[in-house]
Amino acid sequence: MKLHYGDMTDSSSLIKVISAIQPTEIYNLAAQSHVMVSFEVSEYTAEVDAVGTVRLLDAIRTCGLEKSVKFYHASTSELYGKAKEVPQNEKTPFYPRSPYACAKLYSFWIVVNYREAYNMFACNGILFNHESPRRGENFVTRKVTRSIAKIHLGLQDVLELGNLDAKRDWGHAKDYVEAMWLMLQQTQPDDYVIATGETHTVKEFVEIAFQYVGRTIKWQGEGVNETGQDAQTGQTLVRINRKFFRPTEVDVLLGDSSKARNKFGWKPTVTFKELVKDMMDSDLELMSKNPNA
Ligand code: GDP
Repeated sequence: MKLHYGDMTDSSSLIKVISAIQPTEIYNLAAQSHVMVSFEVSEYTAEVDAVGTVRLLDAIRTCGLEKSVKFYHASTSELYGKAKEVPQNEKTPFYPRSPYACAKLYSFWIVVNYREAYNMFACNGILFNHESPRRGENFVTRKVTRSIAKIHLGLQDVLELGNLDAKRDWGHAKDYVEAMWLMLQQTQPDDYVIATGETHTVKEFVEIAFQYVGRTIKWQGEGVNETGQDAQTGQTLVRINRKFFRPTEVDVLLGDSSKARNKFGWKPTVTFKELVKDMMDSDLELMSKNPNA
């Protein structure tokens, strides 16, 4: 593997790298990808996630590769936002609920437009949340598994979270990356939803992750006063901190990936419980080796 410098806000770097490599496939996974952070740095998010995509598409054209390159764009279930229907499929209308989702809405349509205007092999993968031990520490799943590993090892007392009732369709990243590749191996470019078809609350994720270290959580109180206690000792292990609430929330995401399943036989192989276990195993090992991680 060779790494090259480049930046989604710097067209000439994109042209240089594409011209040097002459790639046959490009996967655009570059983004400011955190929803909450996008409320803080909304203009930058638009620069990278929206304008960055058209820069990359234009770089392909500038290099004269629009007829040979296959282009994958990391679209997102966040486009459904205040969802118009449950479950969501490729025909469900979009209703973005964050600067991140608004930027990704532009990207979705510019990919469709370049496909239609220039006959490019360009696909949108509308991927629902996908997690793994490599997930960034400020996404809820990884924050939970890291914190529970620390609590289990006596390195932390309490886990502070925002909206416990949000529902997400969480899959394992390794299944989803295969779907990205499969999209580019088809004869025609198209847009596909990739999802497990199961939705779980943040609370359920927390409960299952704690079960993994032998602790049962009992919930008490409501709203910002809700707490999660160890059912045996009564110790408070989870509490709410308002600072983790978003100005506009996406309450429920549940994907219908029948199109991908029928078209190229994709289906997830990792269950929700196995995903939690993979992340817990990894963070328990990490924290026991390096408590400051
Ligand atoms: P997203 O679906 O791309 O926004 O992925 P996240 O993992 O960042 O958030 C998933 C859901 O968990 C959202 O509905 C958040 O509001 C909710 N959530 C609750 N507490 C937290 C928290 O402490 N951090 C994050 N990142 N999300 C939280």
